[in-house]
Amino acid sequence: MSETTDEIGPPRCETCVSEGERSKVYLPQYSITTAMIDPPPYYDEEGRFHRHVANTNTAEWTCSRGHRWTVRSRPACPAGDVPGLHEVTFTANPDPDPTQ
Ligand SMILES: [Zn+2]
Ligand SMILES: [Zn+2]
Repeated sequence: MSETTDEIGPPRCETCVSEGERSKVYLPQYSITTAMIDPPPYYDEEGRFHRHVANTNTAEWTCSRGHRWTVRSRPACPAGDVPGLHEVTFTANPDPDPTQ
């Protein structure tokens, strides 16, 4: 659960950040949502609203220097008992892997 947070700040290209470069970040042109059935939201005994989303959303972001990365995300429960998900995977590297 250490990799999950809802306070992720503005999106940026981590590759460019690590190289000390500046780049524009383009929003995903499409996203894929898994097709599970979300459990119904409810109010608990204290009147707190719960929404436990089962589906994750996957979207591909790009930067103006040609980097690509995929963000898999799921919103947290507003009551705070189930953390959100924000998982970043780089889908393409400007330097091809020499082992392939
Ligand atoms: Zn970049
Ligand atoms: Zn909850």
